[in-house]
This record gives sequence, C-alpha cells and structure tokens, in this order.
Amino acid sequence: KSVAADRKVQTVCTYCGVGCNLEVAVKNGKVRSIEGPLDSKVNPGQLCVKGRYAFSFYDHPDRIRTPLIKKNGEFVESSWDEAYEFIASELKRIIKENGPDYIAGISSANCPNEENYLMQKFMRAVIGTNNIDNCARVCHAPTALGMQRTFGTGAATNSIEDIDHTDCILVFGANPTEAHPVTGAKIKQAAIQGKTLIVVDPRRTELARYADYHLQLKPGTNVALLNLFFYYIIKENLTDTGFIEERTEGFEEFRQHILSQNIDELVNITGVDWNLVREAAIAYASAANAMSFHGLGATENSQGTATVMLIANLAMITGNIGRKGVGVNPLRGQNNVQGAADMGCQPNQGAGYLDVTDDDVHALYEKFYRARLPRHVGYKIPEMYEAALQDQLKAMWIVGENVVQTDPNSQMVIEALRKLDLLVVQELFMTETAELATVVLPAASFLEKEGTFTNGERRVQRVNRVIDPLPGTKPDGQIITEIMQRMGYPQPDYSAQEVLEEISGIVPFFKGITWKRLGKDGLQWPVHEDGTDTPVLHEEIFKRGRGAFYKQTYKQSLELQEHNNGYPFILTTNRGLEHYNSGAMTRRTPNRELVSGDVLLINPADAGKYTIEDGDMVCVESPRGKTDIRAQISNAVKRGVLSTTFHFPDVMINNITSDVYDSDSLCPEYKVVAVRIRKS
Ligand code: SF4
Repeated sequence: KSVAADRKVQTVCTYCGVGCNLEVAVKNGKVRSIEGPLDSKVNPGQLCVKGRYAFSFYDHPDRIRTPLIKKNGEFVESSWDEAYEFIASELKRIIKENGPDYIAGISSANCPNEENYLMQKFMRAVIGTNNIDNCARVCHAPTALGMQRTFGTGAATNSIEDIDHTDCILVFGANPTEAHPVTGAKIKQAAIQGKTLIVVDPRRTELARYADYHLQLKPGTNVALLNLFFYYIIKENLTDTGFIEERTEGFEEFRQHILSQNIDELVNITGVDWNLVREAAIAYASAANAMSFHGLGATENSQGTATVMLIANLAMITGNIGRKGVGVNPLRGQNNVQGAADMGCQPNQGAGYLDVTDDDVHALYEKFYRARLPRHVGYKIPEMYEAALQDQLKAMWIVGENVVQTDPNSQMVIEALRKLDLLVVQELFMTETAELATVVLPAASFLEKEGTFTNGERRVQRVNRVIDPLPGTKPDGQIITEIMQRMGYPQPDYSAQEVLEEISGIVPFFKGITWKRLGKDGLQWPVHEDGTDTPVLHEEIFKRGRGAFYKQTYKQSLELQEHNNGYPFILTTNRGLEHYNSGAMTRRTPNRELVSGDVLLINPADAGKYTIEDGDMVCVESPRGKTDIRAQISNAVKRGVLSTTFHFPDVMINNITSDVYDSDSLCPEYKVVAVRIRKS
C-alpha cells in the first residue's frame, strides 16, 4: 500500500535477474514502502515478496558501521585511514615477496556495473593479476561458456516480454515461481492462457502443475534427456532444414551422433516415460515460435556446459532463434550477475569479454588503464581456494559475497580462507565469510548507491541513490577507488556516471550507452552509437558467424561415480521465494517471519521407510560432512531424491554439497549430492 512520503525514487531491485523497477517511498530520510511502478517496462505494477517487503535490512542494527581490523584474533574498530594503510602495505608486501598472482579477488554480482568494472581494473591494473572472478562461476558460468561456443555471445537472446509472442515455453532446470517470481508469474499466466508449457525438473514445482508436459527426470541426467529430444525431433522430421543449412555448421556429425545413441538406455537413465519425452519434443519443435528458459538445474551439474550447448542446439535445430518469441534465455540468479561478467570480473576475459591473452586487446585496455596488464589467464574461484590451500595464494579480496555459506564444501572454503595472510571483505553484515577476514570494510547497500545494473535480458538500468550511505559506510565503488589511490594508482575520485563513461569507451556493446540515454526504462545491449538497443540477438547472423552444433554424450554425474556406495539418496539444492542466497539481507527483514529455516523435502515412501514424520529433525550426511535439518514430507520429489534451500547458516547445507565441478567451466555440481539420511 502507498504511504505518505516526502519523495519517491525509482531504482532497481537487488534480488534477482528479473531486474524489477522499484518506486521507493522515503519519509524523514527512511524508506517507508516499495511498489512496482505501473509504467515500468520490466514489471508493470508487479513485485515479489522480496522486492516489495525485504528492504528493512538496510538500517538493521547489525549493519557494520566502521572498518574492523583483526588483532590477536579479535576485531578492533579502526579508522578508514588505518584500514587502507594496513591493506595497502600488506598488498605491497605480498606483491614484493610472492608476486601479484598471490592475490585474488571475488567481485559481487550484487553490486552495480561500475563497481564491478573498478574491481577488475583494480586487480588487473593496480595489483597486476587476472585472478578476478564473480559468483557466476558457481551458477551460470556454463551458460556464458556454452552460449559463447554455440552462438558467440553468452547472454539471453531475447526479452521477457517475448513470452507474449511465443507459442511454446520450455522451462529447463528452473523454478522461476520462486527464484524469478515476476517472470515465473508471466510464464504461469501464459500457460493458463493456453500456450504450451514444458517443464524439465526433478521436482514437481508449482509451475510444473501448470505444464502440459512435466519431465521429472533423475537429477544429473539432462544430457541424456536432451539427446532424446533431438532423437525424436530428427525421427519425426521436425528439423528446420533451411535454417540449419543457412546459418549453422556441424549438423551432419551431430545428427549421426544422435541416431547412434542407445535410446532405451537413455530413457532408462532419465527415468521419464519415453512417450512423454517424445510428445514434449514434438510440441517444442512443431510450435511456430518456441522459447526456452534455463536455470541452475541445467548449469550446476558436472555436464553443465554440455547441457547449455544442447539447449542452444535445440533452438538451432528447430530454427527458434533470431526473432521475437523464440531463443535461449538463461534466468540469472543474482540481479547483476550478467553485469559482473560483462564488466570483466572473469579470469580469462576483461571488460566486454575481451581475451586477456590477446595483445591487440591489451593495447585498448592499456590506453584506458595506463598500466601494463598481465597476459595470462588467472584463477577461477575454485582454483583460488585450491591455491590458498597449497600456499600459492596469500591474499583475497571479497566484495559482498558470503562464499562460506554459498560455495560448495564449506569446510574446505573455510580452511582455504584461514590459510591466507590477508582476507579483505567488503560487507553490510558480519557474515560467516566476514568473520574470517583480516579486515572488514563497511559497505553501503543498493539503496545507498548510484550506478547501473544489467538484468537477465541484457537491460542496463539506472540504479538511483534513494538515501545517503549510512554513517560510517561507503559505496563499494568508493572503497575500491580509495584503495587504488592509496596504492599509488591515479584513479579519479569515485563517480558512477564517470566510470560508466569509461565503460562505454572500452566495452563494445556499451558504445551508445550514456547515463542520460538510459532514462527510465534502460537499454538492452548491444547499444549502438546512435543509442538504438537490441531486444533480440542473432537476427541475421550469429556473433561467431555460423551457429555451431556440438555433439554431447551423457556421462554419469562425477559425484555419483565417486560415491556410489553407502549414499543412496541424491540431494538437490535450490532457492526459496522469501529469501536470497545466504539470507544475510532477507533474514534481517520481516520475510523471516514467513520462512524461518531451511527444510528438507522427502518423498512419503522414503520418509516411511526411515520412520520420519513431518517436522522431524533428520541428519543428512555426505562424504564431506553432515547437518541436521527439519523434514517436510512432500510428493514434490520422487523416491530417492531430496531437496532443500541454502538460506540459513544454522543448517549450512553447503557443508555437505559437492565440490565436484563441470570440467569446462568449473561450476560446482550443487544439483547432485550423494547423501544418506537418518532420523536425528
Ligand atoms: Fe526483485 Fe526479482 Fe522479485 Fe523482481 S522478481 S521484485 S527483481 S526479486
């Protein structure tokens, strides 16, 4: 409900990749309410329970309001000056004694583009290393890599509004009703209105109940299921031969591979009725326009990149790419995960996805950075932990990510962070990661910042400062700038709009972006010099020229290969509607009254076998560790499959998740964890 306000400020939600516009009512310097603006292009009048209600974290008493330096194992309050001096001298010492590659940074997909851009510039131009990454590594790295390989661009091809122009929606390994609620509601509405909906998910989600076809496959069998899709499409002669000939390469080899598969074996592997798969494949391939949405169920597997490449190939084989109402659309988790990668927070690609090993690229970067940059690829996040454990890394700088709670195999992460000489954490709260820091720097929240976020449909939108940073805190961009200056680098004082100008000069697809042009609705990149934007990618040609088919063969999950004895259940983890990632923000809002803990979904037959009743505490144990969690008996999961969220540190589910990775992208296999259970 609208409340009396001194002023209303439009900004962008910090919680998910839908990137909803918020109209924030402020009275007496305090945020009073948030609504969805009726004239918003992204979310006309709509918001979910996070965007609308989960804002009171911003002035919660737990906010850190002064820099902290750990002395003799205890945090001691310090001035900014003392904290900067300590950090700068430690970084200089490590560079001198060990070299710049002994330092690594993790930027935040929760921070605006300008702050992400500065973070990678700091690591590359000031420290002198490409050891910079962001949380996409543990969620959508397979999307970026898989779509770059097949299309040449690792971003959503279309816009959310295209749901209005499609005939068939494939939701693959995603539960947008909870993780991307405004988009989820639009998909549900489309299904109610008669559009064909196919849901591929090991859980019977709410959205699956609206689907024409719910393919409830065994976790970790995506590649087998997609190969079945191709088999039936080829057998039924539903391929788009004109599109394949004109715009793609590698099809014949791909086709031969599909036809050589043992179909009965694939059906058996997925656990889905063959005729249901066949009918779903026919429905997708016969639709005049079919679009797909995929989430972490597709990516967070040991065949994550292969899965994304097949989803892209599915669009190519049926000609569903390059116009409205079709395409391949990753549902991005954190609100600016697209932007963090666009800005170059990756160890192999700088701002604009330019290859850090390419000399021509360096000429461009060095013109802007006025520094010689490192030429070799840096560490990805899992490699950072590994390097720390082997004394090959001495310092880490983590901006706004609670990796102890969100990255797999938490105990390994803790052990790695404890080995560092220096851990700097920029945070709002004393998170489980900040607890391990040498220095904690109090950061401002999105309501206290200016900049831009890029949502899951490549829409760059203005983030407007709603209130001033809380006393004692600073925007992350200002903190990074000030440490760059303290290290002797000539970085001008922080201005988000000036940094955006620098980005537009260096990132090819930001060329036409200016603060003014972004206006109220933002622009979808690539934005050309004349300011026109691009709602649909690959209309005439793929970024790489021809779209590439890549054959893929199903391989059993690495986790199940390694732990096939004594762990009879497969645990999958996912997000809930009311909370966000490690819950550091949403647990400090009234959303905690809606959901106050993680629960374990267990099939009634499995619960009966272990005499577990609804609400009982259950001990879940994997080869890495164990945790106690409350059971919720549910038909949403099949026998042998368990499911939970990861929002609460008292459960700390990532103590037991697997640090087995997709070998191409190093994205962890959160979706297939071998576990056993017993009643606590
Ligand atoms: Fe925020 Fe996503 Fe909810 Fe929109 S759908 S209000 S962006 S969390």
